[in-house]
Amino acid sequence: MSKNKNKVCWWCGKKADSREHKYKRTDYLHAFNEEDNAVLPLKNGKLLPIQSAKSDYLKFDYSLCKRCNNERSQKIDNAYSVFVNYALTNTPELINKKYLDFGEIYGDHWYEMKQNLIRYYAKHLGCRLAFKNIDIPNKLIDFLNGENVLDSIKLEFQIRTDFYHILNNTDWTGNLFMGDLTLVPFNYDGKFIGRAFHTLYSVQWLRTIIWLAKDTKLVKKFLDLNTNLNKIEQLSLEEILSKEQMEKMEYNDLIKHLFNKSKKET
Ligand SMILES: [Zn+2]
Repeated sequence: MSKNKNKVCWWCGKKADSREHKYKRTDYLHAFNEEDNAVLPLKNGKLLPIQSAKSDYLKFDYSLCKRCNNERSQKIDNAYSVFVNYALTNTPELINKKYLDFGEIYGDHWYEMKQNLIRYYAKHLGCRLAFKNIDIPNKLIDFLNGENVLDSIKLEFQIRTDFYHILNNTDWTGNLFMGDLTLVPFNYDGKFIGRAFHTLYSVQWLRTIIWLAKDTKLVKKFLDLNTNLNKIEQLSLEEILSKEQMEKMEYNDLIKHLFNKSKKET
């Protein structure tokens, strides 16, 4: 296990002199224009102005070295950007098909690219664990170093169809959101089998739920790396509010409720 209390790169152990993006620049630009006055909601209810996609507020504290965060991450970052771009521009097809075809997203090299996509989420989670001074599992580091499978990570992809319609049909600006990182009990077949770190990350209407097993007995092959197809679920307003609640609300209140609710949910 590697500790990160002395500002060392949690990936390679050298001096941490680089800051990973909490919200990737390409994600920011999916949600906002450079000139948009984007704000970040804080826990105390205040809104923090972001000003630009390069803002320090969009980055984690120093927890990686430049080499790990740049050249060693290049393929990982690229696999992620290609994926998000695909998911956000092919949403109607995805809603119909209900699955992601990584062969279609990445072409012939889909297997390697998909692993790099998973590495992106693993790296992002590593930065969040380091921020909380939580040990980074050696397995996660081995996976970033090129090991084939990280059997303790689980990813679930969702399309928020309500956000899709609202962000495309109103003057509401974009949605970027990162859920709290929590340690939660994990049940399998109705039985408690261990604890896992849990969080979620949203860019526009694409939401990824991320689990990382903490207890070794929970470790299993969460996400099948050998298949090119993965389920993508749809979630919408109807699953969040009842029909009666919706009928009673004014349109603007409904939208406000929706965005607030989605923040509280996380
Ligand atoms: Zn490093």
